[in-house]
Amino acid sequence: MNASFLRLACLALGFLAALSAHALPQEAAVPGGVALVRLGSGAGRPQAWFGERRVAVVRDAKGWVALVGLPLALAPGEHALRVVSDGGEGSKTLRVAAKQYPLQRFSVPDHRKVEPPPEDMLRIEREQKRIDEIKSAFRDAPDIDTAFRQPAAGRLTGRFGLRRIINGLERMPHAGIDVAVPVGTPVHAAGSGVVVEAGDYFFNGNSVYIDHGQGLVTLYCHLDRIEVLPGEPVAAGQRIGLSGNTGRTSGPHLHWTVLLNGAAVDPRLFLPRTKR
Ligand SMILES: [Zn+2]
Repeated sequence: MNASFLRLACLALGFLAALSAHALPQEAAVPGGVALVRLGSGAGRPQAWFGERRVAVVRDAKGWVALVGLPLALAPGEHALRVVSDGGEGSKTLRVAAKQYPLQRFSVPDHRKVEPPPEDMLRIEREQKRIDEIKSAFRDAPDIDTAFRQPAAGRLTGRFGLRRIINGLERMPHAGIDVAVPVGTPVHAAGSGVVVEAGDYFFNGNSVYIDHGQGLVTLYCHLDRIEVLPGEPVAAGQRIGLSGNTGRTSGPHLHWTVLLNGAAVDPRLFLPRTKR
C-alpha cells in the first residue's frame, strides 16, 4: 500500500463517518429546550440520568452526546447529569438559562374541555396515568432517529411554550406546536419508531404516540382518524392518520409534541434549520 492510496482510503473513511454521523437536534439550554452534553469517545455507550430519568445518548463524529430534555417547569441555573461510563461514575454540570414564553389567550367553544365536571375527572385521571407511563418508559435502542420531518405541511399557528389563558382560565403551557391544517389532512410519523399508544383522549382527542427509542417520543393530537395500532413499527414519513378537530380545540389543527426523557421540548429543535 503506498502513501497516496492510504490517504485516499482515509478520506473515504472520513467521508463515510461523516455520512453516518448522527444528526443532533439543535441545542437550546433553556426550560423547554434540549441540552447536548459531550460524554467522551470511549468504546462503550455511557448511560446518563437527569434526576430520575434516564436520558438518550447518541454518537456523532466527535463521540458520545447526551440529549437532555429540559422540562418547561425547570428552574434556570445549574443542574447535574449523572453519568456511568467505562471510566466509572461521574457527574456533568448543565447550565440552563431563563426563557420567558409569551402569553396567549384564546377560547374553546366546548367549555367542558376547559373546566371538566367531576364526572369527567375519573377518565382524565386514568388517561393521565397512561400518559405518565408512556413518558417514563425508556426503550433502549442502539441508535435513534432524531432528524425529524414536520408531520403535516401547514402554517405554524401555535408556538411551543406559550403560557395559556383558555376561556379566561389559566391552563398548562403549550407543550407542542400547532399546524393549521383542514380536517382530513394526512399526518405522517416525524421519524421511525414504534406506535405505543393510539386512542381517544379527553383533552388530546384521537391521539397517536410513537416511541423512537431511548426516551424520545412524539405525540400527534386531535386526529380525525387513526390509521395505526399500538405495537406497530412505523417508518419516518409513514402516514399514521388524518388530522381533525377532536378533544380540546378551538378549531381544526394538528398538535404535535416531542417528549425527551419525559419532558415536552420544542419540536422545532428536531426539524431541519430551514423549517425553524
Ligand atoms: Zn397545541
